[in-house]
Amino acid sequence: MTFSSIIGQTKAKARLVTALLGTPGHAYAFAGPDGIGKTFLARKFAQALLCRQSGKDGACGRCPSCRHFDHGVHPDYRELQIEPKEKNIKIDRVRQTVCRDVDLRPQFGDRKVYLLAADHLNEQGQNALLKTLEEPPEYCFFLLTIVGPERLLPTILSRVNLVALQRYTPDEILAILDKNGIEAGEKAAFYSRFSGGLGGVALELASTQAFHDLRQETLAFFKHIGRRTRAELLTQDYRFFESNREATPMIFNILGSLIRDQLVFALSRNHSLITNQDQISLLKSGLVANTKPREAADRLTAAYGALLAARRGLTLNASYEGLVCNLLLNLRKELHYA
Ligand SMILES: [Zn+2]
Repeated sequence: MTFSSIIGQTKAKARLVTALLGTPGHAYAFAGPDGIGKTFLARKFAQALLCRQSGKDGACGRCPSCRHFDHGVHPDYRELQIEPKEKNIKIDRVRQTVCRDVDLRPQFGDRKVYLLAADHLNEQGQNALLKTLEEPPEYCFFLLTIVGPERLLPTILSRVNLVALQRYTPDEILAILDKNGIEAGEKAAFYSRFSGGLGGVALELASTQAFHDLRQETLAFFKHIGRRTRAELLTQDYRFFESNREATPMIFNILGSLIRDQLVFALSRNHSLITNQDQISLLKSGLVANTKPREAADRLTAAYGALLAARRGLTLNASYEGLVCNLLLNLRKELHYA
C-alpha cells in the first residue's frame, strides 16, 4: 500500500517520505492515542524501509521484499507486541527478539526493521533496549509505537525521532469506514463523530455487534431517565450498569454524547454539530421539549458534570455501586421534567 492511499496523517507521511528519500534515522517513535493508526503507519514505513525500490510514495508493493512483507514472512522484519497474558512485554522477549538479534546481518536486503509496542515496555524493558539504541548496527531501524512521549524514558526519548499522529477529521473517518465496507450514511456519520477523531476506534465500534447492542440499551435508559422513580433507578437501572460493568466507561461515553447533543439543541439547534444524528426525535424530547432552553441548558450542563465526576470515580477505583447510584440520582434530578 502506497503512502498516498493512506487516508489523512499528511504531516506524518511527509516527514517519513523526506526520511525515506534522504538518510533515515535509526529510531522513530510513532505517537498518538490508541486507535489513531500508529501501528498501521509504522508498518507501512517499515515496508518502505525494506523495499528495494521505495520512492516518494513509500514501498513499491511489487518487489520480492514487498511481497514477503505483505505475506508476513519478511526475514528482516521483527515485531514485538504484547501477548494476551502479559502485563508488560517480558524482558526475555526484548532480549531475544531485539538485543541479541541485531548482531545478525540482514538475510534479504541491506536493512533490518524492528517494530516495538513501546507502551508495553516497562523501565527494565526500555533499559534493555537502550544499549541497542545507543549504538545500533548501521543496517538496523527501530520503530516504536507510543501513546505519548511521556511513556518513554528520557534516555530513550532523546534517541528517537518523534512522529506525532493527528486525529482524523469526520470526513477522513468516513473515508476510512468506506474503505472498509461501511458506506456513508447515518450509521457511518455517527461513528465518525463518536470516535473523537480516532479512525481505528470508529472502525472497531462500527464492526462490533456488542457496541451496537450496548448503545441501544443505553438509548433506552436515557429515554426514560427523566420519568423514573427512585426505586426503579436503584433496581432496574442499576442492574443495567452492573450487568455491563466492564463496559461502564463506554456507557458513560454514549450518555455523554447524548447529553452534549441535547445541549446543542437547547442552545443552538444547529444539527451539524449533533453526534447522534439518527436519534433526532429522542434528542428533541424529554427535558429539551418540556423546559425553557436556558433552564434545560443549565441542567444538562449539571448532568454532564455529574457524568464527568462518575468517570473520575471509576479511574480512582471508588466503590462501583456508590458511584453509579449517585450518578443515577443526579441524572434523574437534572433530567426529570413535568
Ligand atoms: Zn517494494
